[in-house]
Amino acid sequence: ASPELAATIDSLIRDVPDFPKPGVVFKDISLLLDDHAAFTAVVQALADAGRDDSGATVVDKVVGMEARGFILAAPVALALGVGFVPVRKPGKLPRATYAVSYALEYGEETLEMHADALAPGERVLLVDDVLATGGTAAATAELVTKGGGTAHALSVLLELSFLDGRAALDGLPLTALRTI
Ligand code: AMP
Repeated sequence: ASPELAATIDSLIRDVPDFPKPGVVFKDISLLLDDHAAFTAVVQALADAGRDDSGATVVDKVVGMEARGFILAAPVALALGVGFVPVRKPGKLPRATYAVSYALEYGEETLEMHADALAPGERVLLVDDVLATGGTAAATAELVTKGGGTAHALSVLLELSFLDGRAALDGLPLTALRTI
């Protein structure tokens, strides 16, 4: 991100300690979403990961992860002129799905994507708000592969580098508008 955009993002993200549980510092992006100019600039910057140097779109779909990923990924898809695909928690998608499970600190999480969401060989940009441990992004990339697509890149607003989520991405190119 440009220094101006980085400063805007920093000023509009709030740290909320001990949410949703003790020890977690939650990065609240709702003030940023509430600011039209900032939201627009963030969407354009996230979308750049799906463009080549000439500005042409090089992906066929944008995938967003429930729930805040949806808010960013859907306008990114519109900015790139491609379709949006939701990746959801179990039992939310009504038709046949692929599922991928991954370990959390305590327990396990599963994500699902409609089995027919991607055409064979489609290139996919993944979009989420925060990259933490990378479990969500890695599982989503696996869903894209299961669905017959190719994960092109991951675009996030914020990378929490102390959790080393980048290492979980298996070489998937990462664009983070801010890294802390
Ligand atoms: P992870 O799978 O650990 O990379 O976690 C990423 C997912 O959890 C993203 O969808 C984020 O929305 C959410 N998340 C993880 N940590 C935070 C945090 N500190 N603040 C806000 N959201 C977070």
